[in-house]
Amino acid sequence: MSQIDGLPPLREVIATHGIAAKKSLGQNFLLDLNLTARIARSAGSLPDCDILEIGPGPGGLTRGLLAEGARRVMAIEKDSRCIAALDEISAAYPGRLHVINGDALEVDPLAHLTPPIRVAANLPYNIGTELLVRWLTPPAWPPFWESLTLMFQREVAQRIVAEPGSKAYGRLAILAQWRSDPHIVLDLPPEAFTPPPKVSSAVVHLTALPKPRFEADAQTLSTVVAAAFNQRRKMLRSALKSLSPEIEDVLLSAGIKPTERAEQVPLEGFCALARAVDAAKA
Ligand code: SAM
Repeated sequence: MSQIDGLPPLREVIATHGIAAKKSLGQNFLLDLNLTARIARSAGSLPDCDILEIGPGPGGLTRGLLAEGARRVMAIEKDSRCIAALDEISAAYPGRLHVINGDALEVDPLAHLTPPIRVAANLPYNIGTELLVRWLTPPAWPPFWESLTLMFQREVAQRIVAEPGSKAYGRLAILAQWRSDPHIVLDLPPEAFTPPPKVSSAVVHLTALPKPRFEADAQTLSTVVAAAFNQRRKMLRSALKSLSPEIEDVLLSAGIKPTERAEQVPLEGFCALARAVDAAKA
């Protein structure tokens, strides 16, 4: 492991501060600073941005982000055992790292950040999807973030970037692709982590679009997509029956065959369907 800063190697940090990995906190650490610097670089240009990092742990990715020139990093970590280790990083990068000991699902990070803001995190798997959905469904668009660079189980990463016709295509793909541009930027085997998780992982980079790719009401789109994929094997005319008594006509007016299944309909089709459902109600 080569050094990217003057701080001790991460194995030493973990031993000094007694941060044995806890499964209950989703702790699978990245100890290779070359790898964390690579993930930091995949987050885009950092020097003019504030970065929100969730779950810095002993600070591998945090050090990568700072070494790559992030203007400021705001890191939220639930495990108080990590705070002393993170304080040492703060001391090495004066004024550039602010650490909050708290739960990312409860802390409002915005009070501490100045735009432009990027999010970068090796997320605990148990809260990753929940945080992603929150970041993709703010009350107004564009969101507070310019990009999200996030570690997921590979299977979840594939659901985010999935295309119509594939098994992975569903609500997460539509949600992510409607208002952002998601790409898998790095695949990681279990051995990249300490301890290794049971599954492979991937880093996904999502860039916020200035406006949604196709016009649709967010709530209607979410309702239509949920109904369609809750019964993904059924034809849409029966899966969506509860949305309108005239569902066959509504589907046809959106340019979708009533006998199609959710998996076959592209994002543009779902947006047209959301508009047609709203028009039928009006
Ligand atoms: N970023 C570090 C790395 O790459 O080595 C640690 C990643 S580890 C997969 C996930 C981290 O998230 C752990 O440090 C864990 O303590 C922290 N964590 C778990 N639940 C959290 C929560 N609700 N809010 C904030 N941090 C949390």
